[in-house]
Amino acid sequence: MKIIMLGAPGAGKGTQSERIGAKYGLPQISTGDIFRANLSAGTELGMKAKTYMDAGELVPDELTCDLVVDRISKDDCANGYILDGFPRTLAQADLLTKVLAESGDKVDFAVNVDVPDENIIARMSGRRVCGKCGKPYHIVNMPPKVEGICDNCGGELIQRKDDLAETVKNRLTVYHDQTQPLIDYYDAKGCLVTVDGTKDIDEVFADIIAALEA
Ligand code: ADP
Ligand code: ADP
Ligand code: ZN
Repeated sequence: MKIIMLGAPGAGKGTQSERIGAKYGLPQISTGDIFRANLSAGTELGMKAKTYMDAGELVPDELTCDLVVDRISKDDCANGYILDGFPRTLAQADLLTKVLAESGDKVDFAVNVDVPDENIIARMSGRRVCGKCGKPYHIVNMPPKVEGICDNCGGELIQRKDDLAETVKNRLTVYHDQTQPLIDYYDAKGCLVTVDGTKDIDEVFADIIAALEA
């Protein structure tokens, strides 16, 4: 099963894709996590991506597409995967369609986690992520068992620089301009599933599973 996650920054894509991945035994591939890991490791890709990420802009397609195509060709992707944060532009979506079509394949579900802008800023200000494994938490909605420490791996929880309110506003603008059109793109392909992302985390997950298994 090949799933892509659509939704505004902070809609809950990472939270839900982790659960979907655990349920079906599929790898969760987050382009944001890959860029952040490269940044921490000081790679050339990380350095190039940093300016865009800090400003809340998209990393250019030419830096993003190759790494995704490479990642989904790995053995652990043979039974499918969840793409969290890719595609984010029509060019990326077209590329994915093309690459999959080369092996007679396609995206099975595009899960759109729908959350209005007014909910996003509050959500983002409380987001903390594991500096080691990337797992997202929220200081109120989804606190870790031990404050400041990742339940998964014991890593330290940090606040992302691009989660500060000013940058979040720009990321929302970028989302509406460049990523939102993908909702129509996948709707036209007949694989769009939209869920109400303002419900609590368990309910959103249940709605997604119900749609995937309908
Ligand atoms: P969020 O989970 O809040 O939506 P991500 O962790 O997915 O944020 O992405 C963080 C940043 O990484 C984005 O603001 C963008 O700069 C970059 N990025 C992630 N995925 C892509 C992509 N598919 N195309 C271009 N830039 C991306
Ligand atoms: P995205 O990957 O779309 O940027 P995340 O999964 O990182 O979003 O979630 C953004 C923030 O909102 C995190 O702090 C997360 O714990 C919290 N969150 C996710 N889903 C919900 C929800 N349904 N209700 C309330 N808070 C949520
Ligand atoms: Zn962790």
